Amino acid sequence: MFVSGEGPILHADLDAFYASVEQRDDPRLRGRPVIVGGGVVLAASYEAKAHGVRTAMGGRQAMRLCPAAVVVPPRMSAYSEASKAVFEVFRDTTPIVEGISIDEAFLDVGGLARISGTPAQIAARLRREVADRVGLAITVGVARTKFLAKVASGVAKPDGLLVVPPDAELDFLHPLPVERLWGVGRVTASKLRDRGITTVGQVAELGEPALVAMLGRASGRHLHALAHNRDPRPVHVGRRRRSMGAQRALGRGSRAAAELDADLTALVDRLTRRLRAAARVCRTVVLRLRFADYTRVTRSHTMAEPTAHTEPILATARGLLTSAMPMISANGLTLIGVTLTNLHTEGAVQLMLPFDEGAVGTLDATLDSVRDRFGSAAVTRAALLGRAQGIAMPLLPD
Ligand SMILES: [Mg+2]
Repeated sequence: MFVSGEGPILHADLDAFYASVEQRDDPRLRGRPVIVGGGVVLAASYEAKAHGVRTAMGGRQAMRLCPAAVVVPPRMSAYSEASKAVFEVFRDTTPIVEGISIDEAFLDVGGLARISGTPAQIAARLRREVADRVGLAITVGVARTKFLAKVASGVAKPDGLLVVPPDAELDFLHPLPVERLWGVGRVTASKLRDRGITTVGQVAELGEPALVAMLGRASGRHLHALAHNRDPRPVHVGRRRRSMGAQRALGRGSRAAAELDADLTALVDRLTRRLRAAARVCRTVVLRLRFADYTRVTRSHTMAEPTAHTEPILATARGLLTSAMPMISANGLTLIGVTLTNLHTEGAVQLMLPFDEGAVGTLDATLDSVRDRFGSAAVTRAALLGRAQGIAMPLLPD
């Protein structure tokens, strides 16, 4: 583990990544609206975005908006290769690189001033290098905090560079629309807009208690901190978790088997999404149970193959739950938890992608991109409808 925290921080984000790779590799696609996907839009070129086409949109709706679009099937191995090449450029820039996803990373360039120049110079060189070595456009935001660097790259897109000087942070942040705040999805944005709050500056004026009353505790605090540009997270490198877990406390009183299954499914859905976002795979599924008398047990199963797919992991967890049912009926369950361990990083980024695993991988990837864009409550299983959802927070790397 290597943590700097000196800043400044670069947020580097490839533009319309999958679509740009397609345009790079096929000159006939350049300058034309390109949609990668089919049933669902996995990525759209800026020419297609100009017509309102968005990631995770249904294919039919996308074609209605942009009938001239060229639809190409995804080539995940090409994207994986391009991603590896871009991350090489990142690591040639600074040793402190924290990958967020296949096409995006934070880079801490503090302490490089004497060697590499100002952050603006470093960022400009990084953009040139990615263009020369990989043939792709990348946007870079530079700021003192991760949050602000990410906001800056979002504002600067496409093919842009934006430096937020330390003495102008709030001047930059406060006029922006609330949607620019990290973690503000459609639902939160419309709650704010319903109350006439459209800019980050207005959010900052509200005060934490008002925000908490409006949006709930976690979300309200989170937004309050961001609107005041408080984000102390340093750039982490090489932080590799050994496990990922989630749990749910249950009220007293017995729960029907179907309810327990829904609890378990919700936990597995959440964890596998995190797993894929972190480009990890797991082999071992652990079921954790706590009973009414506060005793705890764990049951685990190691699968033959590591995977990041929801279905095999859910099937394993269900197997564990089924064999624990007699114990649960006898003792009364008060907490159910799932931990995924035996984590591996396989081929770095490729396993979060649909690849050739057919429908299972495509479904996972599609659901992930819908939830990334519209929040985790955007799509759910029929069995989970009407249950309380967690707050939609941005997925940070595990
Ligand atoms: Mg991107």
